[in-house]
Amino acid sequence: MLPFSSTQTKPSLLPPNLYPSSHSFSHSLLPPYSTLKSPKKQTHLDLQRLRIQAIDAAQPFDYEFQIKTQYQKSNALKIGIIGFGNYGQFLARTFVQQGHTVLAQSRSDYSNVAQDFGVSFFADPNDLCEQHPHVVLLCTSIISTEKVIKSFPFHRLRRNTLFVDVLSVKEFPRDLFLNYLPAEFDILCTHPMFGQQSGKDSWVGLPFVYDKVRIGDSGFRLSRCEKFLDIFAKEGCRMVEMSCAEHDRHAAGSQFVTHTMGRLLEKFRLESSSINTLGYETLLNLVENTAGDSFDLYYGLFMYNKNAMEQLERLDMAFEALKKELFGNLHEVCRKQLFGSAEGIGIQREKETAKPQKLLSSGTQIRSNEDPQNGAQKGYDNGHASLNSASMSLR
Ligand code: NAP
Repeated sequence: MLPFSSTQTKPSLLPPNLYPSSHSFSHSLLPPYSTLKSPKKQTHLDLQRLRIQAIDAAQPFDYEFQIKTQYQKSNALKIGIIGFGNYGQFLARTFVQQGHTVLAQSRSDYSNVAQDFGVSFFADPNDLCEQHPHVVLLCTSIISTEKVIKSFPFHRLRRNTLFVDVLSVKEFPRDLFLNYLPAEFDILCTHPMFGQQSGKDSWVGLPFVYDKVRIGDSGFRLSRCEKFLDIFAKEGCRMVEMSCAEHDRHAAGSQFVTHTMGRLLEKFRLESSSINTLGYETLLNLVENTAGDSFDLYYGLFMYNKNAMEQLERLDMAFEALKKELFGNLHEVCRKQLFGSAEGIGIQREKETAKPQKLLSSGTQIRSNEDPQNGAQKGYDNGHASLNSASMSLR
């Protein structure tokens, strides 16, 4: 709705107390001023009778409606989505709601879904390009992107189309765009850091990362890029301008790790019970969130982000370190059970004989006059048996 000040046509003709305080209105609903009584003579009852009750039923001839339509048209973009799978459809819904014209092309036939969304579907990318969209938005899987770009009919587009991608990795599409796109095309690399689950109800506060890799400095090209970014800003996203390299560094440590843990716990088969803690509910939600995404997406996060392997290795090392910490503590308990009293006697004997002792790498003491090989073997066997009994008592 436009602010009242931009919609009123004859403000000075009405007494100020007839204007609603916080709403705009259609002036055609008011009686002509000549039919109104002089403000001085009006009673409280008269004013109540004239108070505007229904003001938002905009009519096509309504001035407010016309201004709003003009404003929307001047900001509307024609957006061609390449790859109309889960995520392409998710974004298209909002684009259409905001009044943009949306075209879509995909390997599979989504013509029925597209129709429901108010999107024009094209099976052949040549046909979509001939519609001359202002923006081409790449929404294909990470792993199919190179193939799609290599065969894309760029020559059918306008000379300086804006190319955008939403891939969950950023350096990879940036390099592909710079290699394959005609030099006149603008390039905007983006990553909405949310999906169908996390952005189901609202995008308010959710991060939207973008890098203006190559935007021409003419007014039209700058404004086209801003209009596209504005789609997400209008939905309340937290707009974060960041280089593709920086994005990939951060995303490997956060998004890739999140997906890995979700997939790991999915394989672990978490089960719900009536005594779930809040923490456990969080884990169940994590599994649900990541299970909704394709394996292609996860594999793409791993294959096409050079920082992912390091994060996977760090996870592995962290798990090993944690196990060592647990087993180390267990070992201490066992040691005390095994040698607690023996150590006391040992100290006594030590005092008596004052013979030098040796220490095995396991920490087990042996007497110097024993054969170290046999002694060690014995010690291991005994220790093993006692370790078992100690761990039994811990269960
Ligand atoms: P996806 O499995 O990563 O991609 C599915 C899309 O890729 C479909 O449109 C599919 O087309 C197309 N595709 C797959 N293989 C293809 C091939 N060989 N040739 C041509 N097209 C092919 O799942 P997604 O969730 O829809 O993600 C799409 C993109 O959005 C990805 O790049 C992803 O990183 C990014 N993204 C996703 C999320 C999310 O939450 N899901 C969030 C941010 C960004 P058909 O369906 O026609 O086969």
